[in-house]
Amino acid sequence: MKKNRRDFIKMSGLIAGSTLVGFNTNPIIAQKLSGKKNMNSSKMKLSYNPYTLELKHVFTIATSSRKTTPVMLTKIEYEDFVGYGEASMPPYLGESQESAAKFLSKVNLSQFNDPLDLENILNYVDSIDSGNAAAKASVDIALHDLVGKLLNKPWHKIWGFPKDTTPFTSFTIGIDTDEVVKQKVHEAEEYKILKVKLGRDTDKQMIETIRSVTKKPLVVDVNQGWTDKEFALDMIYWLKERGIDFVEQPMPKNQIDDMAWLTEKSPLPTIADEALQRIPDVIKAFGVYSGINIKLMKCTGMREAHKMLTLAKSLGMKVMLGCMTETSCAISAAAQLSSMVDWADLDGNLLISNDPYDGIKVIEGKVTLNDYPGIGLK
Ligand SMILES: [Mg+2]
Repeated sequence: MKKNRRDFIKMSGLIAGSTLVGFNTNPIIAQKLSGKKNMNSSKMKLSYNPYTLELKHVFTIATSSRKTTPVMLTKIEYEDFVGYGEASMPPYLGESQESAAKFLSKVNLSQFNDPLDLENILNYVDSIDSGNAAAKASVDIALHDLVGKLLNKPWHKIWGFPKDTTPFTSFTIGIDTDEVVKQKVHEAEEYKILKVKLGRDTDKQMIETIRSVTKKPLVVDVNQGWTDKEFALDMIYWLKERGIDFVEQPMPKNQIDDMAWLTEKSPLPTIADEALQRIPDVIKAFGVYSGINIKLMKCTGMREAHKMLTLAKSLGMKVMLGCMTETSCAISAAAQLSSMVDWADLDGNLLISNDPYDGIKVIEGKVTLNDYPGIGLK
């Protein structure tokens, strides 16, 4: 009996040992760690700094106007590698540099030995507090950047997504006077699709002004601006005749029955934005909207965005990939998913004048991935 127990302990040790050997001989990790300290003695270190994005134009949507966007820039250091992340926090979403700093001060990554343990690490980050989606995304993005650098691969490649079939990005034209709108359309010459912000009593005038200077495909974002479903349906028919491809968040997010009615009758796809944040919202949007707008800052980052993309596609829904005003850091991270979506709206870094990063580019209107490991920052 005693001998059997001793044999069992010995056997357990062998199994544990072989697992460890298997792990350490992972060729990629072994290569990255050769000549360096043992992985178990390495710790990830998270740091963060507030930064204020300056917008090129005052940006007006149905509910607000502003000239700056507060962000938090994050870094995870591990051995000789650094992963970069970002939280972008437009004021109407309820997060701030103060709330992000408070959240990030609670994140203790030193308890994890392996940065590749993404599921456990990010579940822990998510469990620290509710909300704080952008602050959580800033850790998620930095961790993905770090892991991509450890594996020496860009994330689109790790995920097995094509590199070249990325979409054109739309370029956003905010609500403004006719002259400024025409000027903005002129400046957006490079972009193949324009996104027009609607939801005020000047909607038809906005579209007619833009149509007087360009024949490009347009998409519209109403930001919940239409409260009457019959009016919304009339507007969508009017928009369809003027070459609009889809309508984003036409009605308030809590008017679910009206929205389902509208989607059923609408000649254009309807896309959920304000109505959608995380995975459970994809299920709620099914049957109510034709598609969803995934944004890293709403859904806590790349890992959940990837899961939402997979879920929405499996439900036969359209997928759009959007952003806030962000630096090239978060835009490059989102772009890693872009070849799998129906539409991209990744112009957030193009709207600011003080981008501290250099990452993926929009070339002749097309989201163009690079081969840099991680999220694609240079
Ligand atoms: Mg939107």
